[in-house]
Parts: sequence; C-alpha cells; structure tokens
Amino acid sequence: MAKESKQLFHEDTKTVTPSGIETYKFDPSKHTYAFSLVGNTKMGAIASWSTLLGDYRYMGLDGDLDGIKGTCKNCGACKMSCYVRSSYRFPGVVQSQAINTWGLRHELKKVESDLAAQIERRHVKDVRINQSGEIENQRQFAMWCRLAIRFPETNFYVYTKMYDIVGKFLDNGDVPPNFTILFSVWHEHGAEEYKKYSHLPNVKAFVYDDGVNCHLPTKCYCPAYKVIGKSGKAKMDHSVSCETCRLCIDSKLKVIACHEH
Ligand code: SF4
Ligand code: SF4
Repeated sequence: MAKESKQLFHEDTKTVTPSGIETYKFDPSKHTYAFSLVGNTKMGAIASWSTLLGDYRYMGLDGDLDGIKGTCKNCGACKMSCYVRSSYRFPGVVQSQAINTWGLRHELKKVESDLAAQIERRHVKDVRINQSGEIENQRQFAMWCRLAIRFPETNFYVYTKMYDIVGKFLDNGDVPPNFTILFSVWHEHGAEEYKKYSHLPNVKAFVYDDGVNCHLPTKCYCPAYKVIGKSGKAKMDHSVSCETCRLCIDSKLKVIACHEH
C-alpha cells in the first residue's frame, strides 16, 4: 500500500479525508456520467466503472458528495488491503468515484442513458463494472443487466461478493450471455454460492489464493501476477493485461485463481 494513502483512511472513525479535494466541484445538473476509457497497466484499454471502496464515509467533498458512504459491504477483511486504496492519494480519483456512487443512488436513469450513449458513440467493446466498489442493490444490478441486453455485442463483466443479489437475477434468467458474473471466492466464502450457479455458461469463480486454503482448486492462475521464488509474494507482470488475457471476460474457463486480489 502506498504511504500517502495510509494517512487518508481512519479505521477508528471509519472515515476518509482526501487531501486536495477542495478544488473539485460537483454540479449534478450538469454532470455527464461516463465509463473511464483511460485504462491502466493491469486492465489495458478496457472501459471501467468505479465507485467508492469500503464502508467508510468520505469527508470534505463538494456539496451533495460530502460525507458520502462507500459501496462495499462484507469487506471487513479485504478493504484493509484493497488494491484501490493507493490510488486515493489522487483526489481526482476519489471525486470521480464519489460522483459515480452518488449517481447510482440518486440519478440511476441518467447514469443509464449517459452510459448507453457513450457505448454507442465510442463503440465500447468491453466493460468492467466496479473496478472499485460493489453492487449495492437490485436496482443497480438491474441497470447493468438492461445495458448488457441493449448492447449484445459488448462484453460486460463484474467480480462480486454480493452473491444474493446476482443470484436472484441468475435464478430468474435475467443476466444475458454477454454479461459474465465472477463470484469472488476467498477461503470458504463464496465457494458454495458459486457452485449453485456454476452450470451457467456466464458464471465463473475468481479465487483469491493466499496460500492458506483454496476451496475451489484450479490449475489456472491469473497470468498478471506471479509468485516470486519462495517468498510467497506475488508481483505484477506488466506484460499481461486483462484486455489481452481475457480469461475472466469471455473465455470458457470456469475457475480462475489469483495470488493477489
Ligand atoms: S477489494 Fe473489492 S470489495 Fe474489498 S474493499 Fe476493495 S473494492 Fe471493496
Ligand atoms: S485472469 Fe486475465 S482477465 Fe482475469 S484478472 Fe487476470 S489478467 Fe485480467
């Protein structure tokens, strides 16, 4: 974890105080919601949507955003080592994730129409939902399903621990084939939930293998992280990106493990 980000997160009060956020303004009436098309080393040029991580309150943001809460539940263990934390030393990242979080909660229809327009205009091919953050409720997940149904040529995918929410939609056959759901599995968490839906072609398990136990053994590991020697520590291989690997996005592989999460 980056040194700077440590100062932002106050675990005792469950708050985050991003520095330098004062200059960032938010006017809901003028905002156009959008996927990030910037990409990064890990994902390549895949379009992504991110919301605020963890169950913290974010303090000091502009207007309606001040005091906004993060979107992840069940993150008692993962939020401390969440890979997104270090990016919060950049106030613009916090601001943009806070806006996306607010939009999903208060302007869902606007978010949907703005994102649909962007997919159409930019011919977006792959979308990762919640690069940071989690599905909060059925309304939000229904929106992602509607977008996937509307754009059958675009691959949508999401990693989630909100097994109950996605399970309801899978039970009803409401998740289209171009929308891949990856059940995040860690130790015993999520393994049984995944097994219930593992017969569906668009359901996969993404297993965090921390070397303790692995309830869904697999021979396939995310090629973006390699364990170095006997240290047990995983290091990112910058020559691999999700855009080129695609195991999680549209391969037939069912269970993928990773040495990092
Ligand atoms: S790892 Fe995922 S669920 Fe956990 S805090 Fe980070 S974004 Fe949220
Ligand atoms: S397995 Fe491939 S697609 Fe999945 S996270 Fe790793 S690099 Fe990305």
